[in-house]
Amino acid sequence: MSTFVDVALPAAVRKQFTYYVPSPLEASVQPGQRVWIPFRNYYAIGVIVYIHQQKPSFKTKPVRQILDEEPILSEELLNLTEWISKFYYSSWGETIQAVLPAGLNFVSRKYLKIPESVNPEKLNSDEQEIIHDLQENKSTLDEAKKRWKGTGLNKVFSGLLKKKVVEIWEEPDLKVTVATEREWIWADGKDQKTAKAFLESEETNRELKWTSALEELSEKLPIRQSAIPEDSVFTSYTLKKLQDENWITFREVEKKTEIEHLQYDPGSIKTLNEDQQHAFQKISDSLTQKEFANYLLFGITGSGKTEVYIHALKQVVESGKGGIVLVPEIALTPQTVSRFYKIFGDKIAVLHSRMTNRERLRAWKDLNSGKKSIAIGPRSAIFAPVQNLGLIILDEEHDSSYKQMDPAPRYHARETAIVRAKMNDAVIIMGSATPSMQALNMAAKGKCDLLELKKRHAEAVLPEVKILDLKQYKGAMRGELAVPLFMAMEEALKKKEQIILLYNRRGYASYLQCEDCGHIPQSPECSVSLTYHKRKNLLMDHYSGYSRRKDTHCEQCGSPNLKIQGSGTQNIEEQLEELFPEANIIRFDRDSTSRKGAHERILNSFGDGDADILIGTQLVAKGLDFPNVTVVGVINADTELAFPSFQATERMYQLLSQVSGRSGRGDKPGTVFLQTRQPENPAIQYAKEHNHRGFARQEMEFRKPLYYPPYSRLIRFELKSSKDHEVNMAAHALKTSIERVVPEAPVLGPSPGAIPWMNKKFIWELTLKIDPEKGANYIELLLVRVMKVYEQDIKGKFSSVRVNVNVDAIQ
Ligand code: ADP
Ligand code: ZN
Repeated sequence: MSTFVDVALPAAVRKQFTYYVPSPLEASVQPGQRVWIPFRNYYAIGVIVYIHQQKPSFKTKPVRQILDEEPILSEELLNLTEWISKFYYSSWGETIQAVLPAGLNFVSRKYLKIPESVNPEKLNSDEQEIIHDLQENKSTLDEAKKRWKGTGLNKVFSGLLKKKVVEIWEEPDLKVTVATEREWIWADGKDQKTAKAFLESEETNRELKWTSALEELSEKLPIRQSAIPEDSVFTSYTLKKLQDENWITFREVEKKTEIEHLQYDPGSIKTLNEDQQHAFQKISDSLTQKEFANYLLFGITGSGKTEVYIHALKQVVESGKGGIVLVPEIALTPQTVSRFYKIFGDKIAVLHSRMTNRERLRAWKDLNSGKKSIAIGPRSAIFAPVQNLGLIILDEEHDSSYKQMDPAPRYHARETAIVRAKMNDAVIIMGSATPSMQALNMAAKGKCDLLELKKRHAEAVLPEVKILDLKQYKGAMRGELAVPLFMAMEEALKKKEQIILLYNRRGYASYLQCEDCGHIPQSPECSVSLTYHKRKNLLMDHYSGYSRRKDTHCEQCGSPNLKIQGSGTQNIEEQLEELFPEANIIRFDRDSTSRKGAHERILNSFGDGDADILIGTQLVAKGLDFPNVTVVGVINADTELAFPSFQATERMYQLLSQVSGRSGRGDKPGTVFLQTRQPENPAIQYAKEHNHRGFARQEMEFRKPLYYPPYSRLIRFELKSSKDHEVNMAAHALKTSIERVVPEAPVLGPSPGAIPWMNKKFIWELTLKIDPEKGANYIELLLVRVMKVYEQDIKGKFSSVRVNVNVDAIQ
């Protein structure tokens, strides 16, 4: 009986492909291995998801090569990716692609080859030059083209391709390897003793550079290249000489990661206070029982949730299991990492978006092999190949960055974490000071256990929140600051206390407006206002990347009276410098932190007290813990409300509470100032009172009759096309077919998207509200049926239209 494998490919088609396994390979196939298979008219890399003996009715092609000795994807991660592909309606292959690090992914390269039948003598001299070059250098297509750039050979090459004198071949590319460095060691038969004997012998001239290097080095071997001080006797000359004299040699070892330079001090773990101990005890019991359990740790900012996480992780690690800590990307600060590193040291692998492929691969391998047992990272760290998973922590559970929007798989890390925890009989802790409606609803229904921390640790108290109605302070402003905020800042500076200012959204507030007709320049690519960037003197569209020089005349009426409105963080920074000439000010936003390490530098210098005022975007709202901060100001609290979504108020409330949480964390009480033009807005009022329960109650009351989440699950269909009328008609047709498939579920739309025009495409949306209790199988079946109708009846008529499905697009 032959053996067959079902293979997932990294394409959007929701389908696996069956191949037969030639008998020499049969003994070594396993699910989770990558294979090199014939596909269409070429080859492709896929992952085996299933091995079986059912011969398909069509003729199968053979697997050409198995690319991994051991599966790179465990059975656990195969099951998880399968669930994601059903629940979020992605293809299994593209889901696997999202899980694997680049170095282990579906990567192939195009190589150039000359078929044996080709006789170079029949070619002209340019053509022969190419053939010669290719025979000498095995080249990828890209490399060769680069080499020939500007020589005119690329054109000749195109001709050769057409004549089939040169062929393009694809080969799997498995070459991303972990970064290594040299470690210097004694050569065979040499050691400190023999070196000493040599140095002390009379024949040896100890004045030479290399002999004195040997003397010093003999104390230090083995030593890594990176550990050799720069201005020392160990120069490349002395090291070479010592090699030539056969004293030392080297081996390649893996480079240390950045975090291995942090402080490790496991004894510094804090003793939990009574409330924390109470919460921890319940978690600890569940961990001991090794059963699935889901906890919502609802603790106000500064109550010590992180300390509870650390204790739970410690128990997990001591029982020989592993854990995952998810934090929002922007909260993955060096501060957070160092708190965990201090206790767990090199058991930790940090995963973040700024890692190189090599670093990512290294982290993956360390976790997969069990060398490291804790993964810390943003959303995608939920896929970390942690062995023997015992605990998943989802910090700031309510954070919107836990939802992947584009590209597919459009998963939510919270739901995915719950499923993964169930698969492993593991415990999950969802922590937040402002739990999502989703999580509160789970608690209300008994799907998770609520643990509360209602006090800040020790003497720290929640800050007083003052609302400043900008309408009333029109005549009493210092730049963007209403006088009371300005005065509080002066006071704090006098007392050598620190200040954090939040300026909502980078750039967005700064735009150009015509003073005569009121026109605001819009992006020609998307229907959003252009942002003005002072330093570059550009108008920019942050969605599509479009930019142009600042207009000199209004494009609408031709007037030259264009005024810069609002201000980005840069403008505010300049204003502050004028208002507080004595103060040190640092800016923390995506522009100032885009360089590697900038994040760390800025926060460290603020933490060390080098700066008095930290001004930034949402970045400053999350997770920062600076005890000397006593004043927090939100310069423009309203921006969030302008966002077109039923969630706007919740987002605003969360932002205000989070940023308020940065004030008064130490023993000095803090104050928060919210500047707004809508002082009566409930989000502002509840944030003032730190009353999350009150806010949640009112928010739930608002959502229930409208059948919004958590009372429903929203599935969004996003249709895109360069032709407005096609996308509009296709959306209407799709609505009809959805209503046929699920007559009981309401459909909203079609309506133009929140950004109705992006990258030269028109966007229309439909939103389907379904019963939130339904699981993956129901959702998949429903969407398969809807999309089948679409493919059969609609797609052909509107061929320019593309449809994306987004489950839980909004929560
Ligand atoms: P959260 O994560 O809930 O915002 P943190 O864990 O950051 O709170 O705690 C706030 C501050 O209080 C931190 O500086 C933390 O080290 C300190 N802290 C919290 N719990 C304790 C404890 N049990 N003993 C000593 N310090 C604590
Ligand atoms: Zn005008």
